[in-house]
Formats: sequence, structure tokens, C-alpha cells
Amino acid sequence: MACVTLKVVLSHLRRDRDLKGMTGHNARTPEIGRDTRGPKVVVIGGGYAGTLAANRLQRRADVDITLVNARPTMVQRLQLHRLAAGTADADEVTADYRGLLGARVRLVVGEATRIDTAARRVQLRSGAPLEYDYLIYAVGSTSAVPESVPGAAEFAYPMADFESAQRLRAVVDELPAQAWITVVGAGLTGIEIAAELAEQDRTVSLVCGGRLAPAFGEPARRSIAAWLTAHHVAVLEDDSVVEVRPDAVVFADGAVRPSAVTVWAGGFGVPQLAAASGLSTDALGRLRTDDTLTSVDDDRIVGAGDAVTSSATPLRMSCYAAAPTAATAADTVLSRLDGAEPAPFALAYVGSTVGLGRRAAVAQFTRADDSPLRAHLRGRIPALIKDAVVKGTLWSIRREARKPGATIWYRGRRSAAPAPVPEPETVR
Ligand SMILES: Cc1cc2nc3c(=O)[nH]c(=O)nc-3n(C[C@H](O)[C@H](O)[C@H](O)COP(=O)(O)OP(=O)(O)OC[C@H]3O[C@@H](n4cnc5c(N)ncnc54)[C@H](O)[C@@H]3O)c2cc1C
Repeated sequence: MACVTLKVVLSHLRRDRDLKGMTGHNARTPEIGRDTRGPKVVVIGGGYAGTLAANRLQRRADVDITLVNARPTMVQRLQLHRLAAGTADADEVTADYRGLLGARVRLVVGEATRIDTAARRVQLRSGAPLEYDYLIYAVGSTSAVPESVPGAAEFAYPMADFESAQRLRAVVDELPAQAWITVVGAGLTGIEIAAELAEQDRTVSLVCGGRLAPAFGEPARRSIAAWLTAHHVAVLEDDSVVEVRPDAVVFADGAVRPSAVTVWAGGFGVPQLAAASGLSTDALGRLRTDDTLTSVDDDRIVGAGDAVTSSATPLRMSCYAAAPTAATAADTVLSRLDGAEPAPFALAYVGSTVGLGRRAAVAQFTRADDSPLRAHLRGRIPALIKDAVVKGTLWSIRREARKPGATIWYRGRRSAAPAPVPEPETVR
């Protein structure tokens, strides 16, 4: 018995020596008891989805779990507007993987550059490739700035990823309070950054391109508009920005307005890893999956989070969908390893919340298909709900680390006939 244990330890030591970019999380992880002959599952992307999926894979004792993430700490993207506006520091919007990952999850810090589906190998920008039996694709989403808008790529500041949010903060910090900041895009992310800046007494305009908070119902949209107006945000609902200049924005009607800093919040993009690896994606680049979140091309690849679109249900790019898709992706892999049929993914929506500075928010209640109801909440209570969501995401990842399989979610009631599947929402 002692001999077997020694062999396991030695084989782990050899294998770990080969893995470049391994972090302290693993250096402290006891390797004894892990069976390297077990199936290898590689999870790409250590955001909300990938981290939770990796932890859940521990349900089966012999799975060899590797999580690959491009950065050494986890970014809590739902706090990035606070980093950009200067109301939170970098250490408040990042989390150490040591406190998040289960003892059997090995972390490799590195960027996956290609999935070699034939050889079942993940290539990294640096370091040895990682072999897998199953792969969970959870690379999330990023900022996106359209090339079709002249000057946007050169002069506008995106903020939906950590580095972009930091760059924006650095320029905002240098601005006098009366300098105009233009936020382009009035989805939930655009509204949150505009509100956060306005609460810091910045001079802000919000350009909506036709509609403020298009995913919300009329009463909730009125509540958001009332808060923004009360906080001196110029809400330009019908206007669209057609050009960005270093110190101005140009509107569709030809008007030019001063803009010391232009923030681009016109929706998320996704990493193009799936497409670059020859896997089927939608127009945005999200991995196309079936109703078990399995790639339509390759049953060894299962997707979770923002980087995935599913035939089971429209997926809102959100933490709300990240956790259920992650849990399902892990369960799909575990079912296949057990030789069982994976269960189809199901998720019912109940609502979403947009933060308006530190003390207010608007919560929109929705039908199971994510369409808005008239009912909404505004003020302090939804702000407390939003805070709970922010804290709850990390809490649920940690719980999954301690108790793999613990994550549950609302799947809705089963209807006799399947509902038609509308195009998935792409913009937060
Ligand atoms: C300002 C803001 C506010 C938000 N507020 C809310 C909210 O209130 N509620 C809500 O539900 N959602 C909110 N969201 C959306 C939410 O943050 C995302 O939907 C969520 O982060 C998606 O989780 P994910 O795990 O799929 O992806 P991500 O969190 O984006 O994680 C993906 C990870 O993969 C890594 N990665 C990417 N490519 C590679 C690669 N090639 N190799 C290795 N690693 C890679 C990235 O570094 C990242 O760590 C908000 C987003 C923003 C920007």
C-alpha cells in the first residue's frame, strides 16, 4: 500500500515538474491520494463558470482536474465598473484562487492558444501542452469595440475586462470633475459605469443608441432614467455615436459633442479560441453546443458560461447563467465518464439587477424565458440584492470546492411542448 502511494506521489511530482506556470495553489495542494491514471479533464477559463465547474468535477474521486487561466487571480467582472470609476481597488475585484479551488484542482496559469481536438491536447502560449480526455470550454467574454465606428478602437475605452477597466481608471483619475465623460451603450454594463461615475460627481452623458436598458420593461426603464437624471447624467436615448475623436464624439445627425473620455460599453465580445480551433461557433464566436452543453462537433468538449450558446435555452451572458451552465457542464462530463446519458440543461430566469451607484439599484423581474414582467424593485432593497449576488458568486464557488455537487438552480416547470428558441441575447 505504501509502495502504491509512493508511486502515485512520484508520478505526480514528475508530471507537475512538466507543467509550466503552476501556482502556489498547487504547490501547497497535497497530491497524495490522487490517481493519475484517472481520466484527465482540462477546464479552460477560471472565471465564475470554469472555477465552479472544476470544483464540481471533484464529485468523482479519480478525475485528474486541471484549470487553465490566463491570469493568476480570478477577476470578479461584475465589479469592474467600480474599479474603472475608482470606487474599488484591484484587490477588491480579484480573488485568490487558493481560497476558491478544491484541493484536487490543479491550476495552470497560462493562455490556451489552440485546442487540438484530434490529439485531445490544449496548446498554451508557453509551456507544455495539456492532454485531456474531456475539456470544459469556459473562456468567458471580454470587452468589444467595433471596428466599424471610426476612431472607436483608437480613442474609446472599453471596461468589461480587468486590464481595460484599469486603463480607464487611470485616465479618469487625471480628469477634472467638469470634463465630459461619454458612455456609449446603455445596456446594464453601460448604465452601471455611468451611474458609478455620476456618483463620483463626474460629468457624464449616456448614449443609448435607441433605448435605455433594452432588456428591461417600461416601468423599470423609467426608474433607471429617473435615477440617472437626478444624478445629472445626460441620457441621450435616441442618439448613436458614429465616430469617436480624441476629445469628442460625433452623432448620427452630424452633431459633435465634447468628450474628454469616451467609454465603450456597447456589448461583450468573446475569445475566438473555439473558432480558431475549428469548432462551430455563432456569429459572435461562442461555442455552439447541444442541449447537454456538448460541442456540436465533438462530444469530448463541453461548454459553460458566456463563451457558449446552447440549443437548450437562450443564455444571457451573466453570472446568473454561468453557475448553472458550469454545474451542468461538469455533470455532463461525469455522466459520460460513468457511461451514462447526460441530462439536458435547463434554466429558468427570474430577474436581473442593475446597480446605480453604491446605494441604489433596479431589479427587473422576468418570466422564465427572460422576458421582462411589469414588476420591478428600485432603491435600497435591490442594491442589497445586488451586493448579495456579488458576494454569493464567490461563496457558491467555495461551497462547490468543499462540497462538490452542492450548486442547485431554478430550472422552471417543464412544459409539454418545447418552446421556440429565440436568438440568444448577446449584450449585457
Ligand atoms: C461591469 C460588469 C458588471 C456585471 N454585472 C453583472 C451582474 O450584476 N449580474 C450578472 O449575472 N452578470 C454580470 N456581469 C456579467 C458577468 O461578469 C459575466 O457574465 C461572467 O463573468 C461570465 O462568467 P464566465 O466564467 O463565463 O467568464 P469570465 O468571468 O469572463 O471568465 C473567463 C476566464 O477565462 C479566462 N480566459 C479567457 N481566454 C482564455 C484562454 N485562451 N486561456 C486561458 N484562460 C482564458 C479569462 O482570463 C477569465 O478568467 C457583469 C459584467 C461586467 C463587465
